[in-house]
Amino acid sequence: MQLTPDNLSQLDFEKSPLMPAIVQDAATGQILMQGFMNDEAISVTFEKQLVTFYSRSKQRLWTKGEESNNVLKLVSAHTDCDLDSILILATPKGPTCHLGTQSCFSNAKPATSFLAQLEQVIVARKNDDPSSSYTASLFAKDISRSCQKVGEEGVEVALAAMKQDKQELINESADLLYHLLVLLQRSDSSLKEVVECLESRHKTT
Ligand code: AMP
Ligand code: ZN
Ligand code: ZN
Ligand code: ZN
Repeated sequence: MQLTPDNLSQLDFEKSPLMPAIVQDAATGQILMQGFMNDEAISVTFEKQLVTFYSRSKQRLWTKGEESNNVLKLVSAHTDCDLDSILILATPKGPTCHLGTQSCFSNAKPATSFLAQLEQVIVARKNDDPSSSYTASLFAKDISRSCQKVGEEGVEVALAAMKQDKQELINESADLLYHLLVLLQRSDSSLKEVVECLESRHKTT
């Protein structure tokens, strides 16, 4: 169930006044950290739109990033089947772990979530000096170069598959996905929209 400021009273704080709260990156799906929330912490999270825990060590409400500014911006909050734990989708500003990594779980993540992370890197390079990276140099060229690249890499994928060369197929597929992400960006579109399209087809079949 998605949580809203109006349905928080349904949460089951009977078992314990502190509920485990898992924070997940809304764009990449990476698990960022786990903390505890009491009823006040979840209310403050909605008020501030910043993830706020009850810190067991500080014994007070703790808004993640209150000192470091590495805040977690609330995207949505959810509870589980028996209303005794919380899942937060958030947009992290900076590394979430105080040790400097994106996640407190040493950046462990499912392989496919890197695709969304790569898209974020591509977006970040968009307006960089063309000499600073290959991605930045692509953005400096006409969009027709990116269209051509997607066409070329698509053909290379097909040829590698015809040859049954698995390593070449993987390499060319990587090229295709990269250039497709660049082309989507250059066309004001995103991986999210493509995935949502796939999802919507799945529901109707
Ligand atoms: P911050 O909330 O990022 O301003 O950090 C304040 C303090 O909270 C840090 O000095 C750490 O002791 C602790 N802290 C920050 N981030 C985490 C985290 N992800 N997990 C556990 N403790 C943290
Ligand atoms: Zn549960
Ligand atoms: Zn940490
Ligand atoms: Zn290629």
